[in-house]
Amino acid sequence: MSQEKKQESANREDKTSKRMIDAMEKAEHTRDLFLANMSHELRTPINTILGLNELILRESQEEAIKEYALDIRQAGNILLTLVSDILDYTKLEAGQMELSHGIYDISSLLNDLVNGISIQLRKKKLDLKLDIAQDVPYKLSGDEIRLRQILSNLLSNAVKYTERGRVTFHLGWAQTGEDEIEIDFAVKDTGIGIREKDIAKLFGAFQRMDIVTRGKNDNTGLGLAISNRLVEMMGGRLEVQSTYGKGSTFSFKIRQKVVDYAPLGDFEKKYNESLHSVKNYKQKFIAPMGRVLVVDDNAMNLAVAQGLLKETRLQVDVAGSGEECLELLKRKTYHVICLDHMMPVMDGVETLHAIRKLEGNPSVDTPVIALTANAVAGAREFYLKEGFQDYLTKPIDAEKFETMLIRYLPENVVYLTKEQSGADDAGDENEIGLLESKLSGIGINIRNGLKYMGNDMALYGKVLQDFHLILQEKEDALRDFLKKRDMPGYAIIVHSLKGNARNVGADDLADEAFELEKMSKAGQLEDVEVRSPILFNLMKNMRKDLKAYLDSESKAAKDSAEQKEENIRISEDEWKKALRELAGRLDDFDGDSVNEKLKELKRYDRPESDKKMLRLCEKAVKDYAYDVALEVVNAVL
Ligand code: ADP
Repeated sequence: MSQEKKQESANREDKTSKRMIDAMEKAEHTRDLFLANMSHELRTPINTILGLNELILRESQEEAIKEYALDIRQAGNILLTLVSDILDYTKLEAGQMELSHGIYDISSLLNDLVNGISIQLRKKKLDLKLDIAQDVPYKLSGDEIRLRQILSNLLSNAVKYTERGRVTFHLGWAQTGEDEIEIDFAVKDTGIGIREKDIAKLFGAFQRMDIVTRGKNDNTGLGLAISNRLVEMMGGRLEVQSTYGKGSTFSFKIRQKVVDYAPLGDFEKKYNESLHSVKNYKQKFIAPMGRVLVVDDNAMNLAVAQGLLKETRLQVDVAGSGEECLELLKRKTYHVICLDHMMPVMDGVETLHAIRKLEGNPSVDTPVIALTANAVAGAREFYLKEGFQDYLTKPIDAEKFETMLIRYLPENVVYLTKEQSGADDAGDENEIGLLESKLSGIGINIRNGLKYMGNDMALYGKVLQDFHLILQEKEDALRDFLKKRDMPGYAIIVHSLKGNARNVGADDLADEAFELEKMSKAGQLEDVEVRSPILFNLMKNMRKDLKAYLDSESKAAKDSAEQKEENIRISEDEWKKALRELAGRLDDFDGDSVNEKLKELKRYDRPESDKKMLRLCEKAVKDYAYDVALEVVNAVL
C-alpha cells in the first residue's frame, strides 16, 4: 500500500474510532442522565413509603404489624441509600456534581459524624479514639454536606470492616495562606484490611473486595468511588494504606477557608464526658405529662436526644427542620423546645424568631433551648441575646440535658426521682406489701405502677394524687366529646387516659380505655356510646376508692409529720424537773393534769429509753394504775 493510501486508511480508522468514541461517550452520557433522573424520581415515592411507614410504627398497637413495619423501614433505608449513591455517582460521572460553599462549624460536623456511628460502635464494642487538633479554627467555609458524606463513609466502613480493636479519627491542620488552612483527615481501623492487589480496584464502582464483605446487604460498593471523586473535586487525593488482616488507614487533605480562628477546643473531652454520662445514667426525674419538641436536621441527633430522654418518660416529639417545627407548633403546645442552631434553609436562630412571631401560636412564650456544637467563648451571650432561654452543647451530656429540662419544665409536671430529691424512699418489701394489700382492692397493681416509677415510693404517691385529679378532668372531657359526637377528640383523651392509668398500674381501667381508643379511632360512634358507661363507671369507682385511700394516707402523713416536728430540745435539768412535776401530779391522782404533762413530755427530743419509759407510764395511766406509773417515773429520777 502506498504511503498515501496508508495515511488515508489510518485517517479513516481514526475518524471511525473517533466517531465510535463520540457515540460511546454520548451513550454513556445519556445513560448517566437517565440514571440521574431515575434515581431522583425513585427517591420521592420511597420517601413517601417510609414516611407513611413511620406513621404505622407510631400508631399501630399490634406487635406483629410493628415488626413488619420495622422490616419495611430497614429495607426502605437501604434502598434509599442505594438510590442516593447511584444518583451521586452518576452525577459525578456526568460532571453534573457541583460543590457548594457555605459556612460551617467543625464541632457540629464532628458531633454528627460521631453520633452517626455511635450505635454501630456500641454494638460491636469497638473503641473510638479521637485525635483532633484542639486549635483547629472552628468556623470554616466549604461544602460541609459533601465533606460529611466522605467522612461518614470512611468512618462507617472502618466500623463495618472491623471486628475487634479501635477506630481512630484524626484531624490535623496547617496554615497554607491568608485565611486558608489545609486540613488532614485520617480514619484508621484495626479491621480486616485489604489485599494489596485489591487496593488499586478500591475506587472503582460496585467493587467489593473481600468475600466477607459481599453479601452484606447494606453495601452498595459505591461509597469509596463517590468519596474518592468528591475528595478530588475538593482538590485532594484519597489515600489508602492497608495491611491485610491488620487494618487500614484512609486519609486525605483538603484546603478550606477560615471564617473564624477561634479554636475548636477539646472535642475529645466533651465526647468522653457525654459517653460517661450516658453510661452512668440514672434519670433525675420522670415527667410523663411533660411535652418537649426537639428540632434538628440530622436524624441521628434526634434519635440520640429521644434515647437520652426515654427514661424520663417525657412526651418527646421531633422535627427535622425549622419549617417542620413551625408546622407542629400550629397544632400542639410544648413545655420546652430544643432547637438545633445549624440547620439548612432556616437555621435555629431564624426559627426562634419565627416562633416568637408566629400568629396565634400558643408557644410564643415557651422556653427555647439552643442545641449547638458551637461551644466557643461568647456562645452563651450570643444565644441569650438572640432570645433563647439557654443553650446546650453537643454531643449532649445526658445529665446536663436533664438538669436543664428540670429547670424549664413547669414544676407540676416534674417528679424528681429519689436521687435528685434527696429522699430515701426506695420502697422496701414490707412497705410495698402493705401498700399492695391496700391498693389491690381498688384495682391498682402497685408493682406495675412502681416499675414505671423506678421503684420510687414517694414519686409513686405523688403520681397517684395526680391521677386522682386527672380522672375527673378526663371524664368531663370524654363526656363532652361524646355529646358533640367528636370521635377524634374522644380518641385523643382516651388515649392519654390509657397512658395515665398504665403509669399507676390501674390495668383494668387502662385496658378498657384501650378498647374505647380503638373504637373511637375507627370512628365507631355507636359502639363508643354503648361502651363508654362501663369506662365511666370504672373511673367513678376508682376516684372514690382512691380518694378514701389518699385521705387516709395524708392523715397518717400529717400525724407523723406533727410528731417529727415536735422534737423539741430540752436540757437534762429541765427534763428532770418536768419528770418531778409529773411524779407530783401522779401522786395527786390528778388525771387531767397528768395527761397534759405527759403530752408535753412526749414533745421533747429524748433518747429511746426515755420515750419507752413515757409509753409505759402512759399505758399505766390509761389503766388507772397510777402507782405503777409513779414507779416507772421514779425509777429514772
Ligand atoms: P461498601 O462498603 O458499601 O461495600 P465502599 O465503596 O465504601 O462500599 O467500599 C468498597 C469495598 O472496599 C468494601 O466492600 C470493602 O471490601 C472494602 N473496604 C472499604 N473500607 C474498608 C476498610 N476500612 N477495611 C477493609 N475493607 C474496606
